[in-house]
Amino acid sequence: MSAEPGRNGATSGSANGLFSGLGKGLVNGLGRISARGGGAMRGSANGSPNGSANGSPRNGLARSARYSAFSLLRHELRGSAEWPRAWRTHELRDSYDVVIIGGGVHGLACAYYLAANHGITNVAVLDKGYLGGGGSGRNTAILRSNYLTPEGVRFYDRSLELYRNLAAELNFNVMFSRKGHLTLAHNDSSLRTMHWRAEVNKLQGVDSSVIDPDEIKKLVPYLDTSAATRYPILGALYHPPGGIIRHDAVNWGYARAADALGVHLHQQTEVIGIDTAKGQVTGVQLAGGRQIATGTVLNATAGWSTLISDMVGVRMPVQTFPLQAAVTEPVRPFLDTVVVSGTLHVYVSQTDRGELVFGASVDPFTSYSMRGSLDFVEGLAGHVLELMPALSKMRLLRQWAGLCDMTPDYSPIMGKTPVDGFYTDVGWGTYGFKAGPVSGETMAETIATGRPASLISAFGLDRFERGDLVGEKGAAAVGH
Ligand SMILES: Cc1cc2nc3c(=O)[nH]c(=O)nc-3n(C[C@H](O)[C@H](O)[C@H](O)COP(=O)(O)OP(=O)(O)OC[C@H]3O[C@@H](n4cnc5c(N)ncnc54)[C@H](O)[C@@H]3O)c2cc1C
Repeated sequence: MSAEPGRNGATSGSANGLFSGLGKGLVNGLGRISARGGGAMRGSANGSPNGSANGSPRNGLARSARYSAFSLLRHELRGSAEWPRAWRTHELRDSYDVVIIGGGVHGLACAYYLAANHGITNVAVLDKGYLGGGGSGRNTAILRSNYLTPEGVRFYDRSLELYRNLAAELNFNVMFSRKGHLTLAHNDSSLRTMHWRAEVNKLQGVDSSVIDPDEIKKLVPYLDTSAATRYPILGALYHPPGGIIRHDAVNWGYARAADALGVHLHQQTEVIGIDTAKGQVTGVQLAGGRQIATGTVLNATAGWSTLISDMVGVRMPVQTFPLQAAVTEPVRPFLDTVVVSGTLHVYVSQTDRGELVFGASVDPFTSYSMRGSLDFVEGLAGHVLELMPALSKMRLLRQWAGLCDMTPDYSPIMGKTPVDGFYTDVGWGTYGFKAGPVSGETMAETIATGRPASLISAFGLDRFERGDLVGEKGAAAVGH
């Protein structure tokens, strides 16, 4: 857990290096590079129905400073000390058309698409902490759409499509890096699932195929693909469109764009109760005693989601588990693809500035704790070194944890609930960051029209009553 430079300028270990001594490989050739600082409704900005502040909601982006090379230069030449804030603070209104609880990527994206696509701007996003302080600022930012069910593949693929154009749409560099994504198979049953996923993917027009160990070795030379390992690699599902993104940039980009369209973002604003009358939402109660009137509430609180749905008596089959991740010091680029091993419960990617980001499966117990554990790092190190022995001298910089809202079928719960005006966008488990854009888009449509968007019709809460589950465990068991 040290950020100090290693001896000889290589990625040498130290007494603090948690990977030191856990394997015999060397990191020859992986020289360190320096860390660089390490809806049926219409609303408006003033709450009056029908229309946005300027007629064309997307034009609202003009209200915040545009980011461009030219504006950067102009700013420098003028010697301005500070850029304007990316989003504003507002007084709480007494009422909003829509109140979104949760300022993660899901809540922020929904607010943005409500305003941008449907002209509903009298919207408040309330977060008890800070924007992106939940899973949306703690995840490992892996994007992919190679799921197991046709419903899942279609849904996540629309998200990837939105992600590809997000920087231009939001005028914010979200740093999408399309590296490709490999899911390794270490036994026959995993290999069979990879073939199954590849076929489902192809039928939905998604680029995925099963490749053999020689092809894997070409893509990731540092991977131990020999037959002599404890869990030999038999093949992998290769998904070229997958990659990584900068999670903070996505959160901030949506926040800035939503703010520019008139949405209010309220941090440090905890919801402690939801009012209903005759089965219809009428308002929310805030810590500190304030009340806000609203007929529409969206629960976008991921790991805390059952605490919110309990406020209106809606029971959801969701359990909250911590998920941990860790990051190393930066080294020169050597890993061009995201590598996942379900059998070893580990995945790794390299960021654009050289750090290796590791993740695993959820902790074995339900909890609301967001603390990392030594147990996790030890297990992680052992599994990483089985895959890439050459990393034994790498040093971890940080580890952390976030909360994951797990459902029985590893698919989300989205749409209406038995309480009128209470909508849900939860059940994101360990894989919900990649779904942020499409969830925002489809939940905004569902709220605006009062009808579930077609892409999420399979994900309703009522599927558990019907026994009509959307089983994604085979594509989502390892966290990301
Ligand atoms: C370590 C880790 C790695 C992950 N890796 C990946 C990955 O690689 N790819 C991927 O797709 N997904 C990944 N995930 C999952 C992903 O992070 C989440 O599914 C996603 O961020 C959920 O977003 P959200 O907006 O629904 O919720 P969150 O971002 O968790 O936001 C919920 C917000 O609700 C707020 N809140 C809670 N209660 C209240 C209240 N009473 N009043 C007001 N506000 C409240 C919280 O403060 C929080 O900010 C990972 C998660 C973790 C923890």
